Amino acid sequence: MSLEKIPFNRPYMTGKEFHHIAEANLGQMLAGDGPFTKRCHAWLEERTGSSKALLTHSCTAALEMCALLLDLQPGDEVIMPSYTFVSTANAFVLRGAVPVFVDIREDTLNLDERLIEAAITPRTKAIAVVHYAGVACEMDSILAIAHRHGLKVVEDAAQGVMSSYKGRALGSIGDLGAFSFHETKNVISGEGGALLANDPELVMRAEIIREKGTDRSRFFRGQVDKYTWQEVGSSFLPGELTAAFLWAQLQEAEAITNSRLATWARYHHALAGLEADGLLRRPIIPQDCQHNAHMYYVLLAPGIDRQAVLQRMRDEEVYPVFHYVPLHSSPAGERYGRAHGSMQLTDELSNRLVRLPLWCGLGDERQDRVISALSTALARR
Ligand SMILES: *Cc1c(COP(=O)(O)O)cnc(C)c1O
Repeated sequence: MSLEKIPFNRPYMTGKEFHHIAEANLGQMLAGDGPFTKRCHAWLEERTGSSKALLTHSCTAALEMCALLLDLQPGDEVIMPSYTFVSTANAFVLRGAVPVFVDIREDTLNLDERLIEAAITPRTKAIAVVHYAGVACEMDSILAIAHRHGLKVVEDAAQGVMSSYKGRALGSIGDLGAFSFHETKNVISGEGGALLANDPELVMRAEIIREKGTDRSRFFRGQVDKYTWQEVGSSFLPGELTAAFLWAQLQEAEAITNSRLATWARYHHALAGLEADGLLRRPIIPQDCQHNAHMYYVLLAPGIDRQAVLQRMRDEEVYPVFHYVPLHSSPAGERYGRAHGSMQLTDELSNRLVRLPLWCGLGDERQDRVISALSTALARR
């Protein structure tokens, strides 16, 4: 009998998605900013406490909006981790800005706040933090640094929907935040994202930039009698079918998060022994962080051949993945950005990291197969 394949991710659907999409079809409202989009905006604002939530067609798009909102000029610098997805950097590079990479913390793999100040130059305009695995960066220290130096803070909270730091929702803490609803994230709409504009002064410009640089939103609210081209913008909004899908997911966001947290906790418990044996390190969640179980990763002990471990697990039809070739060592990262200081932890930890399958509906039996495949792969080392 052949083993059932256990994929790294399997998108979860609540079952209400098609119902909402049918309703949007019947209502003949297919472009953006219809009733479903408005419901999603209200939900996001209520859940996060942000002044303004705006759906976008991806987190990448929301980050591009952030770069436009910050009025970045060629040569301006944005401090960020190198250990992140390409969109964190691309969004700013598109405006001619320079990503300045800083090393990460050993515990959370997030930007090390203690290294930020030394990387600031007269060209620095912003700090872009990434809440890796939905676990918050040390935001109080980062906000204090930004305040001292007159910098803006952008949160790449792509992985952080439903996570919080000291009770504050990720994405709502800096000046601007960005969520992702990509199929691989916790709450999904295929492709999708949202911008959170937390600084009330940026809200009106955010609406304009998202609507091709026009004041169309104000026109529809009856605040102006015609709409015109106000500034540089683009089309960043999703259509209603995407919003209708997302609405089903948002309504179940809490149940989805709880289910993932239970799976996460089960991994954490089961892998304590391998950690005690010195074969791996489990994730560390600081006291101030409530995470959303976006990811369960392990850091293999130094010297273990990760490629061999991954291959042995795949031989058991279990499909873990690794993460992020650090941007400072990628071809475009070398061309468009620069590293400030040593990237030792970024290089080392990214080489040791393995992400285990985690999805709603994984179930205990499949999860046990993942755990045993990992244990066996490590034992045969
Ligand atoms: C997924 C992800 C993105 C991109 O999200 P999209 O919605 O696919 O554009 C950006 N940053 C981080 C850290 C991510 O994990």
